[in-house]
Amino acid sequence: MSGEQIFYLGRRYVLKVIDAEGGLETVRLKGNRLEVVAKTRDQPKIRARVRAWYRVKGRDYIARRLKLMVPSLPWVEKEPPFRFLEMSRQWGSCTPKGEIILNPHLIKAPRQCIDYVLVHEMAHLKHHDHSSDFWAIIDTYAGEWRAAKRHLDGLVEVLLRD
Ligand SMILES: [Zn+2]
Repeated sequence: MSGEQIFYLGRRYVLKVIDAEGGLETVRLKGNRLEVVAKTRDQPKIRARVRAWYRVKGRDYIARRLKLMVPSLPWVEKEPPFRFLEMSRQWGSCTPKGEIILNPHLIKAPRQCIDYVLVHEMAHLKHHDHSSDFWAIIDTYAGEWRAAKRHLDGLVEVLLRD
């Protein structure tokens, strides 16, 4: 466990499990480390803590990004609701009701990749397909999206573990 690589917003950290010694249990980023301060050394429990940490950080980060991005996307009236769902080979999707589903592993990817997925899924609020109209929106509002998409495709194997 300790020594494992952890990815967060495109950066690489090293997991370190620290004995809580009766103190507070917590998960925190410190320098290049993700420190899990825990009373247990049980691997499934430590993994569950890290997953929970990703979800909390992810929820917060995505909510902030949506808030910043939505005003510049004329077809989106307000931030769409979103939730996380583990998916084996997909970063996100958009339901017919307009809810955005995101792979929780997405928070491991670089920021520009996350932005691309968010614009992509929000473009589906207007076009529920991958028609040329859809890609025209992506071209206009997701600038360097090809690089971000390529980057994400290359990250699937690394980021979709655990
Ligand atoms: Zn799509």
